[in-house]
Amino acid sequence: MTQAERPVRIGVLAVQGAFAEHIAILREIGVDALPVRLPADLDGLAGLILPGGESTAIRKLIDTWALRQPILELAQRGAPIFGTCAGMILLSVEISDGDAPVFPLLDITVKRNAFGRQLDSFESELSVPVLGDRPVHAIFIRAPIVERVGEGVDVLAQLDDGRVVAVRQGNVIATAFHPELAGETRFHSLVATMAAEYAEPGEGSARRPHPIRRARGN
Ligand code: GLN
Repeated sequence: MTQAERPVRIGVLAVQGAFAEHIAILREIGVDALPVRLPADLDGLAGLILPGGESTAIRKLIDTWALRQPILELAQRGAPIFGTCAGMILLSVEISDGDAPVFPLLDITVKRNAFGRQLDSFESELSVPVLGDRPVHAIFIRAPIVERVGEGVDVLAQLDDGRVVAVRQGNVIATAFHPELAGETRFHSLVATMAAEYAEPGEGSARRPHPIRRARGN
């Protein structure tokens, strides 16, 4: 069955934060987008987006609604997971202020609210080569910064001063900024392509479990 006959289904964690904007972008590009509030909402998903918001609130609600384990399992089965801003924090193996990791899937260290009060929010034109030549209009709101990038993590974008603001490790992508607030569809299209591949692996492409899981021999 082609994607046109059955659109790929991607969930957006909808317990707090800017989830509605992600759902709108996904629908704009023809994806069947669903808000995720309960474990049952994850059934049949081929991908998941963790939106921006307040990571301390989101992490509490993830456990209140028993979403931690099933989301981790979806990621470990190889479904694409895309985190923006607070979502990036939730996906990191290390958070430099000492918060415990939630979904330790990206071998990076992030610092929360890294741009300080002077620069609470700012916008920048970023080169993101995996998305093509046209720059991404990136909106940063009390954004984290990636302080350490582990082996096996691809850097997708950096600020002019070299600081890393977008990364990918296998099926997991994260941005410190908010493409969904700028009408930017290309990250979501990339995630939709990965989700279609996960839902119906093509000839010769085996489903790849997340590398961290593979490294542990699971
Ligand atoms: N400052 C927020 C946090 O630490 C993230 C901000 C955002 O997602 N826009 O969770």
